[in-house]
Amino acid sequence: MVTLKTSKELAKMKVAGSITAQALQVGGAAVRPGATTGEINRKIHEFIVSKGAKPSFLGYGGFPGSACISVNDEIIHGIPGKRVIREGDIVSIDVGAIVDGYQGDTAGTFAAGEISERAQALLDATRESLLAAIAVMQPGKRLGDIGNAVQSYVEARGFGVVRNYVGHGIGREMHEEPEVPNYGRPGHGVRLVPGMVLAVEPMITEHSPANSVLKDHWTVVTNDHGLAAHFEHTIAITDDGPVILTLP
Ligand code: MG
Repeated sequence: MVTLKTSKELAKMKVAGSITAQALQVGGAAVRPGATTGEINRKIHEFIVSKGAKPSFLGYGGFPGSACISVNDEIIHGIPGKRVIREGDIVSIDVGAIVDGYQGDTAGTFAAGEISERAQALLDATRESLLAAIAVMQPGKRLGDIGNAVQSYVEARGFGVVRNYVGHGIGREMHEEPEVPNYGRPGHGVRLVPGMVLAVEPMITEHSPANSVLKDHWTVVTNDHGLAAHFEHTIAITDDGPVILTLP
């Protein structure tokens, strides 16, 4: 069942979203050659806790970090630890926080120092595909319109759309119905109505989107070891159109 949020609940989700977005900024600012993914995670954790919020990823399904940090060919769910970031790496950070019982969820991919033109093109396309998806999130549109917006944007640029991981509804729970695929047919699927809150999160690959989970049971990597990027916002559908809740 898709739960619709009241305006009071949306106001709370905006607070949660803002703290989550600020935590992502903190993480992004810590991405530089020589830093470890564990250090980036610690800064994010300390920031969230300093705001009186709770890192929603920590302990979720047994996940050991407060952020997922995925480098280069890692798509999502990277476990922060001893890995040292190197010049030219791209670093995807996914973070969630709970404030007053409501969840925020956001992600972005950051450049460590100077990155290749190809890596920059992948980052840009992934970020832009998310914005293209948000632009269509008007009441009356359907889930397929969201997925199609992402898919058509990135595939036109030769990149791949991950199929086996998708966005989701969000509210009191991090993962609520419906699932929000990054592919789809325009005019198909669940109709968007005011009060819906969706986490839209394109996971885009340099080449093939085929992927596997590493032996750590979490980290998802591209099978061909091509690069991957991930951007995510938590977005409310309102009478006035889409509202991004995960803005700093
Ligand atoms: Mg998410």
